[in-house]
Amino acid sequence: MSLASVSRMEGKLLLPTYERQPILFVRGRGVYLWDSRGKRYLDFLSGIGVNALGHNHPAIQAAIKRQAGRLIHVSNLFFHEYQAELARLLTQISGLDRAFFCNSGTEAWEGALKLARAFAQMNNKNGRKPNPKWRILAMENSFHGRTFGALATTGQPKYRAPFVPLVPGVSFVKFNDVDDLQRKFDSSVCAVCIETIQGEGGVCPVNPEFLKLASRLTKRSGALLLLDEIQCGLGRTGRHFAYQHYGVLPDVVTVAKPLACGLPLGAILTTERVASCMHPGMHGTTFGGGPLACAVAIEFLRAERQLLKHVRALGEYFHAALEALDKKHKSIQDVRGAGLMQAVEVDSPELAKAVAGQLLQEGIIINRTHETVLRFLPPYVIQKKHVDQVVKALDAALRKNEESTHKKKKSAPPRRKEVHAHA
Ligand SMILES: *Cc1c(COP(=O)(O)O)cnc(C)c1O
Repeated sequence: MSLASVSRMEGKLLLPTYERQPILFVRGRGVYLWDSRGKRYLDFLSGIGVNALGHNHPAIQAAIKRQAGRLIHVSNLFFHEYQAELARLLTQISGLDRAFFCNSGTEAWEGALKLARAFAQMNNKNGRKPNPKWRILAMENSFHGRTFGALATTGQPKYRAPFVPLVPGVSFVKFNDVDDLQRKFDSSVCAVCIETIQGEGGVCPVNPEFLKLASRLTKRSGALLLLDEIQCGLGRTGRHFAYQHYGVLPDVVTVAKPLACGLPLGAILTTERVASCMHPGMHGTTFGGGPLACAVAIEFLRAERQLLKHVRALGEYFHAALEALDKKHKSIQDVRGAGLMQAVEVDSPELAKAVAGQLLQEGIIINRTHETVLRFLPPYVIQKKHVDQVVKALDAALRKNEESTHKKKKSAPPRRKEVHAHA
């Protein structure tokens, strides 16, 4: 089927939730994708951080073929060979003790929120009802997913507004504002929710002082520190987990995006102490943690471990090249990120849109998030030459579009340069 006919049919048959680029992809290999007309694209977004090993990785393809011929689904009423092994690998790299497997990021986050409430409920020994420890502190500018609990903790009005009322009990803290966190935290809080690096919110890393304060406050009062590493976890920053750059251990961490290389799989990881609030029947899933997805995730983690050093090296190389661009372009407001999660903030949504559009036309896939932020989430297997190609194209696209997008505005906003603690 052609792009035109697919697009026409989708326009009639699907809920109008997406504004897709007019490209029909049919094939991928390594860092490249091909569309229905045979045009090749360099993929610097990897399906929003999912295809971390690139497309059609031989070990992943082999694992899918092998397992698809043996067993795809059994439900969680029975054992299969791979959940225990995958949990062993994930607990080993995270420093946590137990895992729960589900199907997506938002579902992992829902489970994390339920753990926080259940843990508080278990410790509500004074018999008073309702449970005095029920409030959840979440961050402004955050993103945790599209289900109701995840939306309730997502600090961006545009995602929440159409669906209110959401899950009650959530208050928002200004991200990285230690005074605001101090002010809003008290003994009624059961969880503090943080993306170690905010992804959809524009690739904003948490400050070390802020994360350490959140860790200290929660420890002292018996609340839980919930870290969402669905985008920044599992090797993306050059460590298994982004919190490992900070020397902080969360009570609960969620992962998903790259875990099964494109098959739906998410996980909640937590401590023995927190896990003790769960008993059979309290939480579950039909599909989550099936044999196919888990077998693939085991292969992914085998490869991820080998790539951490490479991700750190390429991330530094990429970041330095973006900082050099920053010196050349007044329109660049900030360059931030860690490992292969990088971003360039420009001074107008129009410029960000024009640049992303131009790169796409030239066969380079990146993404614009939070209006003015160009986001890069390339696969871990990129080489320096791929970075060079993207930076060169970015340089040209900025130069070409700075003029035209700025003419429309009366004056450029004052240049805002932020210093970010690079963890
Ligand atoms: C993508 C994302 C989610 C939601 O994951 P889905 O699989 O789309 O439900 C949650 N949190 C963060 C940080 C994400 O990047």
